Amino acid sequence: MIDFDVIVIGGGHAGCEAASAAARVGAKTLLLTHKLETIGEMSCNPAIGGLAKGHMVREIDALDGVMGRVIDRSGIQFRVLNASKGAAVRGPRAQADRKLYREAMQEALRHQENLEIREAAVGDLLVEKNCIKGVITECGEELTAGAVILTTGTFLRGLIHIGEEKRPAGRFGEAPSSGLSQTLARLKFSLGRLKTGTPPRLDGRTINWSVLTEQKGDDPPMPFSFLNKEIIVPQISCFITGTTSASHELIRENLDRAPIYSGQIESTGPRYCPSIEDKVVRFADKLRHQIFLEPEGLDDNTVYPNGISTSLPQDVQLELLKTIPGLERAKMLRPGYAIEYDYVDPRELHESLETKKLSGLFLAGQINGTTGYEEAAGQGVVAGINAALRCVGKDRFILDRADSYIGVMIDDLVSKGVSEPYRMFTSRAEYRLVLRADNADQRLTPLGQSVGCVSGERRIAFESKLKELEQARSLLGALTVSPSVLKKRGISVAQDGVTRSAKRLLSYPEITFKRLEKLWPELSAFSLEVQEQMEIEGRYDAYLDRQAADIEAFRKDEALKIPADTDFFQIGGLSNEVREKLSKRRPPTLGAASRMSGVTPAALTALLRHVRRPAGFSG
Ligand code: FAD
Repeated sequence: MIDFDVIVIGGGHAGCEAASAAARVGAKTLLLTHKLETIGEMSCNPAIGGLAKGHMVREIDALDGVMGRVIDRSGIQFRVLNASKGAAVRGPRAQADRKLYREAMQEALRHQENLEIREAAVGDLLVEKNCIKGVITECGEELTAGAVILTTGTFLRGLIHIGEEKRPAGRFGEAPSSGLSQTLARLKFSLGRLKTGTPPRLDGRTINWSVLTEQKGDDPPMPFSFLNKEIIVPQISCFITGTTSASHELIRENLDRAPIYSGQIESTGPRYCPSIEDKVVRFADKLRHQIFLEPEGLDDNTVYPNGISTSLPQDVQLELLKTIPGLERAKMLRPGYAIEYDYVDPRELHESLETKKLSGLFLAGQINGTTGYEEAAGQGVVAGINAALRCVGKDRFILDRADSYIGVMIDDLVSKGVSEPYRMFTSRAEYRLVLRADNADQRLTPLGQSVGCVSGERRIAFESKLKELEQARSLLGALTVSPSVLKKRGISVAQDGVTRSAKRLLSYPEITFKRLEKLWPELSAFSLEVQEQMEIEGRYDAYLDRQAADIEAFRKDEALKIPADTDFFQIGGLSNEVREKLSKRRPPTLGAASRMSGVTPAALTALLRHVRRPAGFSG
């Protein structure tokens, strides 16, 4: 008799989603984490979402995950980034009250059925014949489980750098996790080192706000969760400042004391989220780097200066603040720092996020080489669902590149691995027009329902939205108008005598849903989210059809399974290098093979021939 179906190690963003998802599917789940009060902690910037990341939060929500609902209860400034650009690249983002976020997350988990939460540090794994059996806490307690999910973030052999100073830590003021690193090395997992960093924190009462540019949020703020219609948390402004030539000079003078340039840090950091010293060196001709001053909470004076992540020595950080308008007298509450940590090569994983080496062991979050709360949470949902399904012997839950950004991320990780912290971008997705933030529920809620991770409340809300969408589509198709009437109403179209439907009119860039309401007042009865989706569908109709055809072709390749026992050395037409790569990585489908580096079109043709050959035929 095992103690739990699923044990999740770590109460960060991956761990919270993994624990909640496993429990929602019905597994008896235990979440073990260092400290109960740090569950849901935002290690770095107090914000959720942004370009592509916001899409993933919507996807997590569509699978009934917690992140979207939690940020709606704690967000103090909501903005849709790229609001003036195409629907596919608009990114919802919200700045959070750090304390409210943690509290809302802890409350959500406390109310989750099937989930028990305990404070404990895990030191080792219980393993028997390549199969996970449970965990051993640092106090020596053994707990058995059918599946274990590791979500240890930056804690594995974490090492903090502030100038010349180095100290082992998982996060500022928290001990690292070394035992589990040794366990993973002993089990022969391929481990690497990555680095990330965070800026100093400032006392808002010592900032001269009057010289700064104010940035307000959207009014009204748009919720993340498909279950929420409004945000009731009070909203605040952020402020903008920037570095000066004096800042850049100071940084250049002290580069020999910066761990990333002195040789003290050798591992790679996030290319798209560089430290200020890195920006000054790499973009030497840039005269100013923008800094967003983001309050960390409604009743907290701490300010997060977004844009000056640094591991320069503390005295240089203090001098740096004096060179920035508005921060000349700012008090530093905590210095910025960089952290190096171990990660596991994600090519060690199946798409379910179960490890290939140890059945029943799942990995999710920063441990897989990603960076960011949303990336971690997206993996957490998938690992949690799969761990729970495995316990009852059900089929794996796999998201692919055509149904979600989460699918794109996992496919990238398991097929290509990482050489720097992996962050999501809209450019990583081939089917961007389909993978929008507004339709994440239609893409994923039915899949979530099929594995039992979606609550009744969401099912009812989703079904009612689907009904409304259908009504809107059919009405927009049925309402028609002649060019002469349009002309009289001030809408210019070719006077060709051809009647146009309301749907067709939405394909004209200057015709919005609101303008259609003037022609047909009954359209105003539809909710804002349905109106927005109708506008997008109308605008991109032809492109959406084309993308649907591309997705069908992609799915055909994805459906072509490469048997797990394939001997790639017996397949003619492959170079030895490709044979070795395929034997090592074992892509499950032709599509996965096509995305491996070095697998050429000729090699794919040979593979295709092999996969389609009649049974019993080799070569
Ligand atoms: P975490 O949020 O780190 O959570 C790990 C959890 O595991 C913690 O609760 C910890 O207590 C627990 N734990 C660890 N080991 C054990 C154990 N042995 N037993 C029990 N519990 C354990 N992201 C960005 O997108 N941009 C950035 O600029 C950025 N900068 C960052 C700077 C710093 C200094 C840090 C620390 C992180 C930064 N991040 C940044 C990353 C972001 O914080 C992470 O991507 C995200 O938190 C990862 O979530 P996670 O769930 O994988 O891990």
